[in-house]
Amino acid sequence: MAPQHVVTRFSPSPTGPFHVGSARTALFNYLFAKQQGGKLILRIEDTDSERSKKEYEENIIDGLDWLGIDYDEFYRQSERGAVYRDHIEKLITNGAAYESMEDEDGSDIRLGGPHFRPSVIRFKNSGGIVSFHDEIRGEISFDVTELGDFVIAKNRETPLYHLAVVVDDMLMGVTHIIRGEDGISNTPRQLLIARALGVPEWRYAHIPLILAPDKSKLSKRHGAVAITEYRKQGYLPEALVNFLALIGWSSQGEGEPEREIFSLPELVGRFNLSKVQKSGAMFSADKLKWFNREYMKTLLDDELLNALTARMPEQSPAILAKLLPLIRERITTLADTPTLIGNGGELSFVRNYTKPSRALLKTIEFLPRVRGILEQVSEPDFKAAQIKERLWDFATEKGRGNVLWPLRIALTGLERSPDPFVVAELLGKEETLARIAYAQSLA
Ligand code: GLU
Repeated sequence: MAPQHVVTRFSPSPTGPFHVGSARTALFNYLFAKQQGGKLILRIEDTDSERSKKEYEENIIDGLDWLGIDYDEFYRQSERGAVYRDHIEKLITNGAAYESMEDEDGSDIRLGGPHFRPSVIRFKNSGGIVSFHDEIRGEISFDVTELGDFVIAKNRETPLYHLAVVVDDMLMGVTHIIRGEDGISNTPRQLLIARALGVPEWRYAHIPLILAPDKSKLSKRHGAVAITEYRKQGYLPEALVNFLALIGWSSQGEGEPEREIFSLPELVGRFNLSKVQKSGAMFSADKLKWFNREYMKTLLDDELLNALTARMPEQSPAILAKLLPLIRERITTLADTPTLIGNGGELSFVRNYTKPSRALLKTIEFLPRVRGILEQVSEPDFKAAQIKERLWDFATEKGRGNVLWPLRIALTGLERSPDPFVVAELLGKEETLARIAYAQSLA
């Protein structure tokens, strides 16, 4: 049998900012399509003109772009009115749907009357059991009898959601419908319409919703849920993608050492739809931080520097470059940097010298000797390792806390800062000696 050409679709309704859960649905569709050598369609489901907003559509498109999830085709349902109209006619003509007169409580009165409302289009539902195979959940069956003759269009011009989805999935050649498990209850209606239109059946995969650690549905009260927020908070897109891909799915091969860091192409290679779990897709903010730190480590100095200068154009690139190794060790996301180098921050001492308090200095007894030792270190040798070597014996003899603590406070004025050797190198010989002399004068 010739391999089927896989087509998946990500079909968000632009009624809110791009949500992490939605991004994961997009990602799974992308991973599966790419892996199968197929294509991904982005379809904006904006038929609800009251709730759909252009700004949300843009937010979704920008978010996908930022995450690196690209798609092969793009559609907007609001531009496809004629297509839906044709299919409403077709269903009416072949007897699968009918125009029904409604009174105000929605019941069919056909004859009109005082509460006469415009007609709606209903699907002729003969009831019974509708079953489908779900790649993740196996066989799912519904008794559709209770659904009655459900409404599929407001009128001959205006489809409702289920009809538009079915018509699009049919005409766009979709083969696999990968969506959130909240789509399961939509499936029976969509299948009934699909069968009436003679569509060969799609493969379904309903992926588990992302839950907060308290097992409730992930929402704003658990923290950021919008992709834009994570971007603002300085997360790297690669980290977010890796993190989202492994929620509810593990790429662990048999006998393979445990591993969690995967690039997007690696994820494409390893993705396995049938290994997605039925439940237990948990969102952990700490885990995302961990991923972000891991990805930060892989950034080259230049990349990190560029990312930081882009976020902090007011900072001198030279100072950022100087502090880069220290920043790198200390941040979880790019957005942590301003606090770190801003006033009072651990790395603020290069530009802002905070006057050391006497209490913080504890003792200045050994500062003159320290200064004397450092005066002997030549400029080219004024490096953390050499400085440490020169001071070490003296510090050990007098007690490291008595020597190195006051030195660090003298140099930075800060309770928290990097070790004094690193600080001295950063400041340079002249500034280091001047700051020690100043601290001595505070006695
Ligand atoms: N547009 C629907 C939503 O945003 C998804 C439809 C589907 O995937 O079938 O929830």
